[in-house]
Amino acid sequence: MSALIKPEAYRQSLIASFDACPLRARFSIEDERRSPGPLAARGTLLHRAMHQAVREMQREGERKYPVEQGMELLTAVCAQMGPEVKSGEVVPIPMREMRWARVIMTKWCEYVDLDPSKIIGVERRLTAPIELLTGKTVDITGQMDLLLADPPDGVIVVDYKTGFRQPKQTRVGTDPVKAMQAEEEGSGLTELGWVQFLVYSYLCFQAFDWIQRVIFREVHVLRQEERQARMEALQMERLTDPLRDQVTLLDQAVEEGIASERWAPSAGQHCSLCPKPWRCPIMDMEQIELHTEEGRRRVAHEWIVAGRIRKEREEFIKGIADTYGPIEVVGAEGRRVVGWRSDKRNFGLYEPEEIPESPWDQALEEAGRQSGFVADDIPF
Ligand code: SF4
Repeated sequence: MSALIKPEAYRQSLIASFDACPLRARFSIEDERRSPGPLAARGTLLHRAMHQAVREMQREGERKYPVEQGMELLTAVCAQMGPEVKSGEVVPIPMREMRWARVIMTKWCEYVDLDPSKIIGVERRLTAPIELLTGKTVDITGQMDLLLADPPDGVIVVDYKTGFRQPKQTRVGTDPVKAMQAEEEGSGLTELGWVQFLVYSYLCFQAFDWIQRVIFREVHVLRQEERQARMEALQMERLTDPLRDQVTLLDQAVEEGIASERWAPSAGQHCSLCPKPWRCPIMDMEQIELHTEEGRRRVAHEWIVAGRIRKEREEFIKGIADTYGPIEVVGAEGRRVVGWRSDKRNFGLYEPEEIPESPWDQALEEAGRQSGFVADDIPF
């Protein structure tokens, strides 16, 4: 089996990726330097701006960050100039996404209210060993947006979510017991957030022997809403077991190489973040048995993956059509093109108004010419 380049430490994002879809994790190990898509680029630049803003607040002892200052900072960050942008860190971002970045940064400035004396670290990276079920010990690592002290004996890990997705709604109402349960179980967190919660809690308990509690807080910036989960030191075993199991699986997959069966695809909402949906084998399967639950699940998975590929290619195909004109495709319905309709507002698959001559007609005409018989010769 071919080998994969083994990461020095398993990053939190790789563990989360493997947890959602092992194959997606393999794609990201194979292709570490892939240029991010527009949404990921927007997220990267917004995080850079927020981190810089929090550092300034800490330096100046401020709780808030004025919107005008936030806009200035974001403009400078989006221009990606100066020595703080290291080689390999420049990301391509279209102006449309810059506009959205301004909206999200404005929301962040309006919402942020921090006690600067409680800031332990911005973009703080922690690394800790974990013993696997195979007997090996490997390192896991994670970098937090913001780490705050939660006196007397706790820490708060803040993670800024800069996407559009609505935060999960939990039915706790005003019941404080249900609210506490939801916080303990992390039921309001996103899928990714739940894995981050586990990894960061593990790392914090390993790094700071004085803490008894970790709160992981997702801040959905655009919606100005928070979801959080709490881990007590006493629950450490409950925390470590699933994490150890998952990292053991990941490590075995890496050791076995690209062909390992452990890199199985598993479709879901996370397909929207897949670096290579067009390589997903879910689309290649041949037989679908609709009378089985598995068969029906596969159709649902295909539908998710197909949507993901379509979204990924949308801007690309529009660019091709802009440059080269409509792209002819052949389907069961006959000749079709993908491109802009004549009104220039709608893009899609349609039957062209001016149907180009088919290769079949051209071949027939050529054959007629060679035999000395052309259509014009037909007597009516
Ligand atoms: S498209 Fe979805 S199921 Fe397929 S590899 Fe990517 S994340 Fe996994």
